[in-house]
Amino acid sequence: MRTYQLIAPAKINLYLEIIGDRPDGYHELVMILQSIALGDHLEIRSNGTQGVNLHCNHPLVPLDNTNIAVRAAELMIVEFPEAFAKYGGVDITIDKHIPVAAGLAGGSTDGAAVLLGLDLLWKLGLTVPQLQSLGAKLGSDVPFCVGGGTAIATGRGEKLDPIHDLDNLWVVLAKYNNLSVSTPWAYQTYKKQFGDSYINDKTGITSRTSQLHSGPFVQAISEGNGSRIGQLLHNDLEKVVLPKYPQVEQLKQVLKAAGGLGTMMSGSGPTVFTLCQSQTEAERIKNIVKDEIKDGNLELWVTKLSSNGIQVINNE
Ligand code: ATP
Repeated sequence: MRTYQLIAPAKINLYLEIIGDRPDGYHELVMILQSIALGDHLEIRSNGTQGVNLHCNHPLVPLDNTNIAVRAAELMIVEFPEAFAKYGGVDITIDKHIPVAAGLAGGSTDGAAVLLGLDLLWKLGLTVPQLQSLGAKLGSDVPFCVGGGTAIATGRGEKLDPIHDLDNLWVVLAKYNNLSVSTPWAYQTYKKQFGDSYINDKTGITSRTSQLHSGPFVQAISEGNGSRIGQLLHNDLEKVVLPKYPQVEQLKQVLKAAGGLGTMMSGSGPTVFTLCQSQTEAERIKNIVKDEIKDGNLELWVTKLSSNGIQVINNE
């Protein structure tokens, strides 16, 4: 029996702009995605049976085939039936460190890790682009999670252009563990409120994408200019999530007042983050927020931006 252990990092959105909607029901997006060092730990082990079994220590993570890690294994079985016949099924264990339903792509990164784990276990020799196109069949964030780092993502988030790595900054993440925001609700509400200004022609979409490519944000990232990056953080979904969830709005205000380079909600929330120049500054902000909001449901993390996608840490 062979086993691989992998780390699957979470992501934050440094930039999220909604451009229009699409015939497939998704939205046309322009984003800057960034990996962070906070990650789930996965173990993928050949079990010598014909089955896929999932173990996870987190009560909110489903263990059936609604789990994206199981769907990733099922996709690999369909795509590579000969390898499955030769090597058999797998036991997947997820040690969850990424908060669930937090806008941090926790499920997507687990799916990406299973794709890579099975590629290795079944000796398929797939390339990163091949793993990414398999990932696009599982979810919009999965292709990014395979390679990680810093990237511009367009389409529904699956088309990637890696840009200069940004791993010199730290981040404080804050989330109420009794609060979750439905991603479909956030996009549908945005469409109801702002759909009139959507652009759906190809030229308009391409021009928005190239504006980001050649604009100040990408420039600031290539210079590693933390203060400028902090000023340019942007997320269109804040316009619908913050008014509906006053706790998230309040959390954002408290984080912002505590200092740092810039504060924003990640994805469809409810996680809010502050970028910081150093670990010391991040710890200081974390302590201020902890002192100011006395709520047992508030969770805080300090971690670093990272240039890593899925990493293999051990095999036996
Ligand atoms: P994204 O940022 O990609 O929109 P998210 O970080 O907001 O995702 P997830 O942590 O992926 O959200 O969880 C969303 C839902 O997906 C959960 O409520 C859970 O029921 C389901 N889910 C399926 N697979 C997983 C997994 N491996 N880890 C966590 N949640 C999972």
